[in-house]
Amino acid sequence: MADPGGSVGHLERRLLGLRQRLLFTDEPDPGVLQGVFALLYVLDLTLRAAGNGSPLDVGMWPTVGLALTAITSVLAVAVPWERLPPWAVGLLPMLDLAALGLSRMDEQGGGAGILAVVPALWLGRQFGRRGAVAAVLGTTLLLALPSLVFLGFTGVNLSRAVLIPVVAGWAAFAIASALDQVRAGMDVIAHQRRISEAIFDTVDVGLVLLDRTGAYEGMNKRHEDFMRLAYPAGHAGTAGQLGLVYGGDGSTLFARDEMPTYRASRGEEFADIRIWVGNDPLTRRALSVSARRVEDERGAFAGAALAYKDVTDFMRALRVKDEFVASVSHELRTPLTSINGYVNILLERDDLPTDVVAQLEVVARNTVRLTRLVSDLLHTAQNDEGPMRVVREHTDLAAVVRGCVEAAGPAARRAQVTIAVDAPDTLTANVDAERMAQVVDNLLSNAVKYSRREGHVRVRLGTDAGGVVLSVADDGIGIDAADRDRLFTRFFRTREAEERAIQGVGLGLSITRSIVEAHGGRVEVHSQLGVGSEFVVRLPQ
Ligand code: ADP
Repeated sequence: MADPGGSVGHLERRLLGLRQRLLFTDEPDPGVLQGVFALLYVLDLTLRAAGNGSPLDVGMWPTVGLALTAITSVLAVAVPWERLPPWAVGLLPMLDLAALGLSRMDEQGGGAGILAVVPALWLGRQFGRRGAVAAVLGTTLLLALPSLVFLGFTGVNLSRAVLIPVVAGWAAFAIASALDQVRAGMDVIAHQRRISEAIFDTVDVGLVLLDRTGAYEGMNKRHEDFMRLAYPAGHAGTAGQLGLVYGGDGSTLFARDEMPTYRASRGEEFADIRIWVGNDPLTRRALSVSARRVEDERGAFAGAALAYKDVTDFMRALRVKDEFVASVSHELRTPLTSINGYVNILLERDDLPTDVVAQLEVVARNTVRLTRLVSDLLHTAQNDEGPMRVVREHTDLAAVVRGCVEAAGPAARRAQVTIAVDAPDTLTANVDAERMAQVVDNLLSNAVKYSRREGHVRVRLGTDAGGVVLSVADDGIGIDAADRDRLFTRFFRTREAEERAIQGVGLGLSITRSIVEAHGGRVEVHSQLGVGSEFVVRLPQ
């Protein structure tokens, strides 16, 4: 597999580039530095000779200095300095200082002492603070003292003899400390990089960085494992490459525009997209993918970061749980049906004492509740295998609603809740009668359960331009706006329902929605905490 830049390769390359730009290179090139010095030296002599009126008249010692500079330049280029001990190259700036000393030994005075700054900077850059000390000693011994002796102890000569080493030493010291600071800064950055790299590689989440063109800028080790599963033949390093990447069902191969990397490279942000990578049942992994845009300082799209969380165990556990729930519910249904049947047979007898009838009614009520719970669980488990199946037939929905209201009567009376119905005599629709009864039952039992004492529930059935409209409204405890999006999630219950210890498991609404959606309809909620709720079912007619 192609390694698009290794773990955090791009970061490493950027740092290296930055370091080289700041320091030019770690070791200065002696040839270049000596070349600069030699040029300036020749320029100085040329200008001095031109000023004297004779191009060749520069005095004997400066000419010797020129020869020394020429020899030093040859040495700078010819000697393989990298093979010698590091201090050896320091000889070159020292020879330059000596050449400058010779250049100043001129009867007419002069010699550009300012040039001492060039070898001084060289020494400072190459040897740091020790180079600065060498620059001070070198300028003093090779330049200032000889020229002072040669030119005499005049005020001007004395001032130059003191100032040249001071300025050269200061320049060398300044560059040495600037470079020290840069190096310290680079070390901090390098240290932080190592820490981020360690974190990047240690987290148990696959991480990928894409640039603005969709090219992979880097990925961590965990993601390299996922890439090997998804692209056994290798990856070219650009988002959207097709491979063994499947949707949440584990069997539908993703097209290019479904690939999370492709979508992220188009600037899309998303969370918890479920995919499977690999096709070997033993090694394939289920991943939950999230993506965030990366923006530059001006807010323009600069790339994307993707996180791949391994949820294989979770997905397998879900499947096992659903299979378990489905088989247990299935097994429970048969005995429950027989209990229900026999209790009803018993209740039809008229020779039973009233207290036994009352107890049997409790058994009957709880059997009904248990039967509903079991069938809810069964639906929930089966729902995962695809959309709910409905068998449509011409059904009088008004009759269904009235039947459900009648069935909810005993529970409503116990809770002292009144139910008002506003429905036409008949309203025929092409629906699954049993499932729609389940919808009305769920909404109605919720409205009664989550009502206050002496509350009011109103059921309306009618039509509008869009089709059939069924509404169940109550003036009960209401639902917080923050909870509204999660109401239809399996096993979700509001804090109010839990705190009031109102019975329920949080499956009714999720099943209600599946049934309504299987009919091509939708469920709406209007609610205010403490005021009441209205659930509206809209079905196409
Ligand atoms: P259950 O009623 O078994 O808890 P549901 O799926 O039917 O499960 O409802 C989910 C949650 O939505 C309930 O637990 C309750 O918190 C809230 N809820 C549903 N209907 C109403 C309602 N009419 N009034 C207030 N809260 C409701």
